[in-house]
Amino acid sequence: MTKIIGLTGGIGSGKTTIAQYFKSLDIPVYIADEEAKKLLDNPIIQDRIKVVFGETIIEKDKVSREKLASIVFQNPQKLSALNAIIHPAVKEHFQNWLTQHQNNPIVIKEAAILFESGSYQDCDKIITVVAPLETRIERVIARDKTTKDDVLNRIKNQWADEMRIAKSDFIIDNNDLSSAKLQVDKILKKLTNP
Ligand code: ATP
Repeated sequence: MTKIIGLTGGIGSGKTTIAQYFKSLDIPVYIADEEAKKLLDNPIIQDRIKVVFGETIIEKDKVSREKLASIVFQNPQKLSALNAIIHPAVKEHFQNWLTQHQNNPIVIKEAAILFESGSYQDCDKIITVVAPLETRIERVIARDKTTKDDVLNRIKNQWADEMRIAKSDFIIDNNDLSSAKLQVDKILKKLTNP
């Protein structure tokens, strides 16, 4: 049986960077946030989104992610309605992807909201990536050309590190990338020779 390894961490901790390292070691990686974004182009999903958010959410045949974000940011009910459309669709998409990778001993599922969405329950082991808060904020400001307030707002909507750590099997300290890669190598040894 393929082991599903959940990979999560707060914004700017370096989940995607660590996921890319797993990929470079020929381990299949599923990036849930990317797939969720792609699903917004699926006509069936678009129809469901129109029912909740109205026709104006579509601009040039695409769901306006900016409009969507600004609505759900201020309206928890709309956020739940959006999640109720997206989460089951990503789950189904992941199951299909998993079938295509069933000959691999392990696969990585990277998701920012692995715990918040409940999808951690489908994982055999969970890895949380951590880095100091100030470092994470600086990284995201540099990457997204955004403000500290924006990053803090996004952090406020996610679980705290302590909660993630309490439910994780492995922690990767990604203050320094070369040390983080060594930690990945050690975890892989444990996962492949339990
Ligand atoms: P998000 O939750 O927003 O998707 P993330 O946890 O996936 O973020 P990354 O996108 O991997 O984080 O990393 C955030 C930024 O920090 C990127 O620009 C990345 O190149 C950089 N970064 C990641 N790890 C390190 C590191 N160890 N040292 C320096 N920069 C890093």
